Amino acid sequence: MSSTGKLYEYASSYATRAVEADRAGKRQEAIINYVRAVEILQKLIHFTDNPDLKQLYYNTAKDYIARVKKLQTSKKRIKSRGPNTSSGVSDEETGEIDQAIADTIITEKPDIKWDDVANLQTAKQALREAIIWPIMRPDLFKGARTPWKGVLLFGPPGCGKTLLAKAVASECDATFFNVSAASIMSKWLGESERLVKSLFDTARDKQPSIVFMDEVDALTGTRGANEHDSVRRVKTQLMQAIDGLTSKKDDRIVIIGATNLPEHVDIAMRRRFEKRIYVQLPETEAREAVFLIHTKDVQLEGIDDFSRLAEWTEGFSGADIALICREAIMAPLRELDEKDLLKDSTSEIRAVTLQDFLKSLEKINPSVSPSELLGYEDWQRQFAAE
Ligand code: ATP
Repeated sequence: MSSTGKLYEYASSYATRAVEADRAGKRQEAIINYVRAVEILQKLIHFTDNPDLKQLYYNTAKDYIARVKKLQTSKKRIKSRGPNTSSGVSDEETGEIDQAIADTIITEKPDIKWDDVANLQTAKQALREAIIWPIMRPDLFKGARTPWKGVLLFGPPGCGKTLLAKAVASECDATFFNVSAASIMSKWLGESERLVKSLFDTARDKQPSIVFMDEVDALTGTRGANEHDSVRRVKTQLMQAIDGLTSKKDDRIVIIGATNLPEHVDIAMRRRFEKRIYVQLPETEAREAVFLIHTKDVQLEGIDDFSRLAEWTEGFSGADIALICREAIMAPLRELDEKDLLKDSTSEIRAVTLQDFLKSLEKINPSVSPSELLGYEDWQRQFAAE
């Protein structure tokens, strides 16, 4: 076995011990083992060249650190709980899984309106038809007119996939489950399958629900032999869950997958996402709208509109533009003396000028390269189903 393979084994065994101790309410032991697992994961991050694996180890370590923090701050657990439930899962275990869901998955009722998402008209229309109408008017989607249960948003990072999914949930007043596929897999090694099942059970309880699963590509790809098996099991569980949504037509639950690496989503998974929508880099008009959204309520001087800045930012993603705005808006603050800034509430802050935006533009480069874009367009031609 390779040295990284061995390290992975060590990390897994510490993590397994940590999870067992955690379940048994042995806080101290759990903390020690989580910390050891994190230390080894840090080494793995250092030694591994594969960016997917690096990300996976990083997410796992982050989850364990979060768990340690929680254990350190939480009161001592009550060890003894009630009898086993009929499903064979004890109340304590159910509580643990609920806690894991709460830790791994962000559940919310987002307050993002369509207008908060600049342009992306084609994607919005497709999502309206595929998700919002069926959830709001289930009576119209009976018989042959079956609603979509799986929608995949693909495209370069920072172009509004998460925003779109939140806006959909907000428009149909659905509960929004925000899950990262990479973290659900690595969370509680060995617990991921139950986590997936619980996720969909909870989504069913709280419907209408949108399950947003980011980084669906993390469910496949070339990983070490150790991971392969667990990845396959979680993927099977997930595919069964999606099939369950399709067969229970009255359930108002939709899974929205998102990926920056659509070519890594394997055929079986791809098939379950019946609608595949390309969320592209913003066009000039869209970039202008993103500038407007991110300078709302900001005092500007000498800027009547953002058309010129929009022209100068071809190739930038929405997130890049949001960053440019943030930098520019900070500029007037940086000019103030720190003493004034922290103590004097009356200190005058000047308006943000075009010069501030230009300076910020000098510092920030587009995060997506033209060659990467070609890959998305290729995939769109082959597999998109809008
Ligand atoms: P990733 O693939 O990296 O997860 P994403 O496509 O899901 O990225 P979002 O998280 O939706 O991107 O967007 C990142 C940030 O970029 C948003 O919080 C927002 O500030 C800005 N942004 C991106 N696209 C838009 C848009 N169309 N309208 C307004 N803001 C946008």
